[in-house]
Amino acid sequence: MASDSTDFAAASRAALADPQLRGNFRRAMDGLMGKRAAQFPDAGEWHGVRGLAASVRLRALSKLPELLEKLEENCTRNGITVHWAATTDEANAIALDILHRVDAKLVVKGKSMVTEEMHLNAVLEKDGIEVLESDLGEYIVQLDGTMPSHIIMPAIHLNTKQIAHLFKRRIKDAESREDAAYLTDLARRVLRAKFQAADVGMSGVNAAVAETGTLCLIENEGNGRMCTTVPPVHIAFMGLEKVVEKLEDVPPVISLLPRSATGQPITTYVNMISGPRRPGEKDGPREVHLVILDNGRSSIYADPELRDTLRCIRCGACMNHCPVYTKVGGHAYEAPYPGPIGKILVPQIEGLDKRGALPHACTMCNACVEICPVKIPIVEIMGRLRVEAVRPGGAVKGGGAKASRTEAMVWSGWAAMNASPAAYRVATLAMSRVGNAAPSSLPLLKDWTNVRTKPRFAARTLHDLARAKGIPDA
Ligand code: SF4
Repeated sequence: MASDSTDFAAASRAALADPQLRGNFRRAMDGLMGKRAAQFPDAGEWHGVRGLAASVRLRALSKLPELLEKLEENCTRNGITVHWAATTDEANAIALDILHRVDAKLVVKGKSMVTEEMHLNAVLEKDGIEVLESDLGEYIVQLDGTMPSHIIMPAIHLNTKQIAHLFKRRIKDAESREDAAYLTDLARRVLRAKFQAADVGMSGVNAAVAETGTLCLIENEGNGRMCTTVPPVHIAFMGLEKVVEKLEDVPPVISLLPRSATGQPITTYVNMISGPRRPGEKDGPREVHLVILDNGRSSIYADPELRDTLRCIRCGACMNHCPVYTKVGGHAYEAPYPGPIGKILVPQIEGLDKRGALPHACTMCNACVEICPVKIPIVEIMGRLRVEAVRPGGAVKGGGAKASRTEAMVWSGWAAMNASPAAYRVATLAMSRVGNAAPSSLPLLKDWTNVRTKPRFAARTLHDLARAKGIPDA
């Protein structure tokens, strides 16, 4: 049996033992849940707009190959150079090629989950290129040398005091002030000088419109607009699922995303990028590139059940409402996408042999499904991945890596017992008599018993009780 390349259980235990981290998360998640709820006071409106956004995403996925071709055609017509990357290595190589050609020394980046997936910063730094995250949360995380703990609020695991200490340590002449306004202003001053000096700006894409060749980018800090307009070259990165068919498909997505994510009616900035600077225009980059990353998405797309994973608009609401994520935080997942969406997306991208533990890190409570603005059946997909993890030769990369003969025998025994009334009676009678005396941890089943509280067995079986009440056995 292959083992996971990361240890979610150990990382979770460490997170649970950190009261500061748990306190930071609890406070932040309670705030986000409250703000989101305030955005949807009317259940009818929520169901209506949610259905509309889901249908936009479903329609886009139903025509994905055609829309991607159209997107390339219209982007090219607009002067945007489109690059296709099958893997993260290819995407990194494309980025490096562009940077070398323009002799880039300094890159400023807006928020982009795809570049987290590519580990782009490490690749650029290894190549001697300075790269600076300009989203405040990402900047904090970069200074701290860690990774984002949330897809929308990367530094949500830190409080003001921790950030003040970090800035004091890492930024020249920083004062030791636990004051959010001061800290934000300090970061702004550092970043502003870098925007002006940067050779290349990079960003993500929230939605790419096939019919017009337009890249939509929403953000709150203005750093996205700076990254995409100030440096002479802009490189945007997107997963291939981010395409939508028409311009009119954008409003439902960009209306639901901030409401679900941060409880804002809309983000402060909505950027619509339709090409480089044109003759006579005073600002904007002279080159715009779009890198479209596959990295396993085509395989996800090929499976009608798993395809729904690609509907995601990366709002993070499923994380904010997940009883596991809100306790252990984002770093325990050791992945660019934590929480419920990470539990289904990361194993499909990286393989169940490496990430087979993630679909099990779930109570199946369904909170993520109820809150997801595009109705992704996360729990169903999680169930499918659990099956794939123990079924060799399945559809998902690394499938079958978790196959265990002991577990298969236990489940066969369980099925046989429940299929035979006589076996069921014998088993329940045995449990009622000796179950409570049995040890709570069984060596052969330790993966199951070590992390679960042993049930207390009733002294009398249901059949006993029914007979005592004069109810005849069926
Ligand atoms: S799965 Fe749904 S709730 Fe979670 S990030 Fe994606 S769109 Fe948002």
